Amino acid sequence: MAGSWPETGPLSSGGKADSTAIPDLVERESNSDWAKRYGFPKKGGYSLSYWLRGVQNDPLFNHRTTAELPASADIVIIGSGMTGTLAAKHCLATWPDKRVIVLEAREFCSGATGRNAGHCKPDQWRGFREYERLFGTEQALKILQNEQQTWSDVVKYVRENDVDCDLWVGDTLDVPVTSQAAHVAKDSFERYKAAGGNVDHIKVTHNPREASKISRIKDAKACYAWPASTLYPWKLAAHVMRENISKGVNLQTHTTVTKVKSSSQRSKRWTVVCDRGEIDCLQVIHATNAYSSALEPSLRGVIKPIPHICNQSILPVGFDGASALQNSYGVLLADGALITINHRGTVNDANLFGGSGPGQGEFLKWVEEHPETCADDGLKSFPSVTKAVQKFTESQFSGWKNSSTDPKELYEDSWSGIIGLSADGVPWVGELPGLPGQWICAGHHGHGMARIFTAAPALVKLMNGTPWAETQIPDVFQMTPSRVKGLKQLVETGRIPSRL
Ligand SMILES: Cc1cc2nc3c(=O)[nH]c(=O)nc-3n(C[C@H](O)[C@H](O)[C@H](O)COP(=O)(O)OP(=O)(O)OC[C@H]3O[C@@H](n4cnc5c(N)ncnc54)[C@H](O)[C@@H]3O)c2cc1C
Repeated sequence: MAGSWPETGPLSSGGKADSTAIPDLVERESNSDWAKRYGFPKKGGYSLSYWLRGVQNDPLFNHRTTAELPASADIVIIGSGMTGTLAAKHCLATWPDKRVIVLEAREFCSGATGRNAGHCKPDQWRGFREYERLFGTEQALKILQNEQQTWSDVVKYVRENDVDCDLWVGDTLDVPVTSQAAHVAKDSFERYKAAGGNVDHIKVTHNPREASKISRIKDAKACYAWPASTLYPWKLAAHVMRENISKGVNLQTHTTVTKVKSSSQRSKRWTVVCDRGEIDCLQVIHATNAYSSALEPSLRGVIKPIPHICNQSILPVGFDGASALQNSYGVLLADGALITINHRGTVNDANLFGGSGPGQGEFLKWVEEHPETCADDGLKSFPSVTKAVQKFTESQFSGWKNSSTDPKELYEDSWSGIIGLSADGVPWVGELPGLPGQWICAGHHGHGMARIFTAAPALVKLMNGTPWAETQIPDVFQMTPSRVKGLKQLVETGRIPSRL
């Protein structure tokens, strides 16, 4: 298959899992492989992320608002990550009297939102080249504008509501460390600028010495700096969910939805079948991201699960206190590979590494040979991934290797999460074709923190009859029958480019 990683953006040769740097790969999947790939959230045996470990004693973790599963509701939201939680918030704001239930297969927010690398980093130029190739100039500009809007909405919400989620706002640095990566970055930046994209807030140097001084990265060829954030994603989602519950939302954790079927009792209603009973409702929101295609088979081929590993490193002696890293990073390597660094700026208790780094290729190859692991977030400590992080930090940050901290302590900790790859690299927002009353906001392609804060409210607007144009999110995010059909044809003929 094609795989690669995300951290943020789109990109042909961009990765993600909050990034943007992945090679254009041709995806060839046989139908027989598909069944193995699409799984429900794993029950038991999953890894615990840095974030989840920090909140295991929070009562929200295993919350059930009522002991029994209600038999009916107006709206059932499947999934309690950032999408489901925000969708519930906006449903309540739109229809304060409607009965809203959020169902979660495991602990509250224990999917990708509780396992990511903690970057809310709006792509402000890096993905432009690839988005323009795929969707044209206007949409490419809109996608990047949407990311800026999303980031600004997140920061505004956190500040206005005094959310305790370790929000850091500062300069994120994109640092190409090879000539090829520097060339691709410069090309994308220049194209974005020429197309009228706003670059006023981006500081750029193409002087390697200066770039190295700013970034502390030895082989830096250039440095792009612009405002972005890191935060504690679970705590942000928890703040929103607590408010939801106080306003009447019923959250049911440890409740897996196995099927959504037409109601046998009443027309134009749905029955949500769970492992704890059934709920009759008028509308359903699929906020299931990487697991969307397991529950709704018509999405197979357009939203795919793929595991991704993050590494946590404690701060090496010499990179602590005032000498700790001061920025978050996207390190741009050859052939679109990317390492992201979240330096946990407000607390400085760890450095988190994600992205589509050099070790991910071997990991993805292994996943390809074991398609049944596509939805398995029990994976961790994959040697090539950890080694790549170690090699990068030791060779590029002067003094890291000679730190007196034992390397075993530095690199041992890692976890996995499942990314919802979208066949064309951008999310799916809207009503499911042929299933009136069933809605989706998913396929965030490893970059949801820079998308969901605008995509989830947009979905609720659509449910309320607002025309697409007024949602103000990019047109190419829209769930339409023709988008599904076109991409499925490409998948079936083995010609779909993977964009992770
Ligand atoms: C390791 C990793 C690192 C990442 N790093 C970043 C980053 O730094 N920045 C960034 O922007 N993005 C990053 N991402 C992507 C980002 O985390 C996601 O895009 C975002 O969290 C998706 O949110 P969501 O609510 O749509 O999905 P999720 O958070 O996955 O929530 C979906 C929920 O639905 C539940 N569910 C699924 N199926 C069912 C069912 N049948 N019944 C009941 N419940 C169900 C799941 O258990 C899950 O809790 C990363 C992702 C991973 C995996």
